[in-house]
Amino acid sequence: MASNSFRSQIHLGVIIILIIITLLTPITTYNTSPQPWNILSHDDFAGKLTTASSSIESAATDFGHVTKIFPSAVLNPSSVEDITDLLKLSYDSQPSFTLAARGHGHSHRGQASAKDGVVVNMRSMVNRDRGIKVSRTGLYADVDAAWLWIEVLNKTLELGLTPVSWTDYLYLTVGGTLSNAGISGQTFRYGPQITNVQEMDVITGKGESATCSKDMNSDLFFAALGGLGQFGIITRARIKLEVAPKRAKWFRFLYIDFSEFTRDQERLISETDGLDFLEGSVMLDRGPPDNWRSTYYPPSDHLRIVSMVKRRRVIYCLEVVKYYDETSQYTVNEEMEELGESLNFVKGFMYEKDVTYMDFLNRVRTGELSLKSKGQWDVPHPWLNLFVPKSQISKFDHGVFKGIILRNNITSGPVLVYPMNRNKWNDRMSAAIPEEDVFYAVGFLRSADFDDWEAYDRENMEILKFCEDANMRVIQYLPYHSSQEGWVRHFGPRWNIFLERKYKYDPKMILSPGQNIFQ
Ligand code: FAD
Repeated sequence: MASNSFRSQIHLGVIIILIIITLLTPITTYNTSPQPWNILSHDDFAGKLTTASSSIESAATDFGHVTKIFPSAVLNPSSVEDITDLLKLSYDSQPSFTLAARGHGHSHRGQASAKDGVVVNMRSMVNRDRGIKVSRTGLYADVDAAWLWIEVLNKTLELGLTPVSWTDYLYLTVGGTLSNAGISGQTFRYGPQITNVQEMDVITGKGESATCSKDMNSDLFFAALGGLGQFGIITRARIKLEVAPKRAKWFRFLYIDFSEFTRDQERLISETDGLDFLEGSVMLDRGPPDNWRSTYYPPSDHLRIVSMVKRRRVIYCLEVVKYYDETSQYTVNEEMEELGESLNFVKGFMYEKDVTYMDFLNRVRTGELSLKSKGQWDVPHPWLNLFVPKSQISKFDHGVFKGIILRNNITSGPVLVYPMNRNKWNDRMSAAIPEEDVFYAVGFLRSADFDDWEAYDRENMEILKFCEDANMRVIQYLPYHSSQEGWVRHFGPRWNIFLERKYKYDPKMILSPGQNIFQ
């Protein structure tokens, strides 16, 4: 206890000194002011740094389509050195200019933007002939951080190997998801993507390159994982691999009782050698049971599912998967049958599919292409993602799913709710998670129109306020906070470490300003 308080005092002292140094430095040198547009003529960046309106416009928006934040220029690097040089230039300038790595721009609230600074278009570095090296013996892949997970999967599958931890949607960059966490139905068993990385190359906000791992420059390694782009630009990640399964038995079970639903979910994630994937979702009275994220239910069953939703107003879907291949094809059916018998879903509402491993992992792509063909992909996405401690989840069901959501009657689209085990995460990483052993990921993945997205945003605020008033200790995932107080609350006792690391690796606050943590 005493040593904790002594350490806090030292932290505070260090932070105050660093703040004073940072505040004083720009004041004395403010007049020599190279801005990004002044470096356009810089030979090192010829042809790579652009102010073309099409580039600026596309860097100003993201998947969320609720913000427009214009950079002064966009860097299209062709090598890691281009990024290092620009970061060094910014660091050596007085004042420096801000810089944000943009992976695939699939953030929902301007997190990859850099107002009046430079957006680094990481995807311009992708070279299909290099950028991934797979070690069969070491069971890992060294991947350029600008690669999409689907590209990583395609390459590793050529050798019969695969990463183990995924996101639901694979058209996201390695660097982008490692800056958050990378969660999906595999997280309860394998941990998030950030715990399945063995080594990284990172360029810090001082323009210094470092290779880091849990044994080498470990503080930088853990800072960058889930670090919201605040400590460095990740250029390479070594991702753990396993032998790829061939196929997936993919089941859904419908529940009307939330406590039965969560009891079954929690039991299943406590079994160490059971399922390979577990998620869950909330189904509301909004037409057909499928949504853009997946087309699953047999059309012949739509009517009776819809009528159950209409009767109950809110029902729940447990979604589980067991992978298999030649060696397990004879036992998997029996195993899944036993599983079905042990669950408390509404009898008669069990669904089963048998698909290839690739089709299962890439399941959201079909929905994306269909929305794109109808012009409904590039629309506002006022998303809200939360981590809710297990002890609060039934209060959440009562107050939010059956309270706010039913009352406002505007939410449609996927609403996810599934648990994960805290012991599969690592406290040294920057990602903020609840303290309890089990916590739930809850995601409201909304699509809106340009003239009505604010209604959803207001609903998001209402949900957050409900959680705060009820002291539920809910933490946002893919977080957005409009003030620094919000960030201090977000990180809780880990805020001091986050701040110390910021002063250590990006003392001039150059990196990822769109996260809105350090104004
Ligand atoms: P960007 O949006 O480009 O960047 C995100 C942040 O990371 C920014 O702050 C940026 O500056 C920083 N950054 C980007 N690249 C680097 C780098 N190389 N080094 C350092 N910082 C960097 N997330 C999940 O966890 N699970 C899901 O199942 C899931 N599903 C999704 C489905 C869809 C349709 C969408 C749009 C998003 C989904 N997400 C999911 C969220 C997604 O993981 C994040 O939005 C992620 O940041 C997007 O990756 P990106 O490559 O587009 O990153």
